[in-house]
Parts: sequence; structure tokens; C-alpha cells
Amino acid sequence: MALRQIREESDEILRKKSRDVEVDDITGEKIQTLINDMIETMTHYNGVGLAAVQVGILKKIIVIDVQDENGVYVMINPKILKSKGNKECEEGCLSFPNQFGRVIRPTEVVVEYYDRNGELIKLKAKDLLAQAICHECDHLEGILFIDNVIPGTLEYVTPDND
Ligand code: ZN
Repeated sequence: MALRQIREESDEILRKKSRDVEVDDITGEKIQTLINDMIETMTHYNGVGLAAVQVGILKKIIVIDVQDENGVYVMINPKILKSKGNKECEEGCLSFPNQFGRVIRPTEVVVEYYDRNGELIKLKAKDLLAQAICHECDHLEGILFIDNVIPGTLEYVTPDND
């Protein structure tokens, strides 16, 4: 496994749309290595989620860790089928270090995706997991959380270096 460099802020790739992964390729070494590296990178930087585009790969792969009993979610070609509810929540992004803002996200989504074994999964997700799925799926379309931030709520937090 290896840490990958996270693309930040004005890097143009963050505005590009990602492409579907061929289902037959999911269990291949290249995609599995990318997934492992994405998990390692997300964990290293204490992220809740990471999309492949953030490490410079325009493929529809996201990883999410909301510290629940299911461990890390790996979602390939995710599609949000339904969403409901609205909630204002705090959000940040590994591509925007030390920036946080308030966004409106659904309280519940139904998402369909392939897991890393190539199995098609349908999952109902709530609260932080629903929020993270929306944030990461936006990345796959070139949409960034700063596009959704409620005006006037974006804050720059000084990192503590201890
Ligand atoms: Zn992000």
C-alpha cells in the first residue's frame, strides 16, 4: 500500500467528471491497489471519505469511513437512487485543508454500487453516512463542497501543529 498525493483546491482535475469502472476490472490488481491506497490515504489524513479523482484518477470509486460497525465502505460506480429529508450540517474536504462550512444534505439516501468484490449492493444510509455519500458522489461529477456551502459559513481553521 502507498499514500497517494491529494489534489487540492484549484487543481483542474477536481472539476472533471469521473468514468464508470468496468465491472470485470473491479477485482483486478490495478483497481484493488488503488482502493487500498485510497483507504490508506483517507485514514492517514483522518478523512471521512475520499474519491478517486482526489488522488488524480477519474474513475467512479469512493471510500468512506464513518467509524460504524461496517468499517470502510468501498463504493464503485455509486448511484443515489433516492434521497429524503434535509439537514444543515458542517462539512469539510481533504482537498480543502482546514476549511469548513455549513451545507444542506439529505438525512437519508438509498445508494446502489458495486463493492470491491464486484457484488451489486443496495444500501439505505442515514445521517453522516448519507452526507458522506452525497459529498463523494458530487466529486465524481466535478462538484465540490464549496459550491454547496451556505454563503457566509465558510471558515478557515488554523491548523494546530502539535
Ligand atoms: Zn471532498
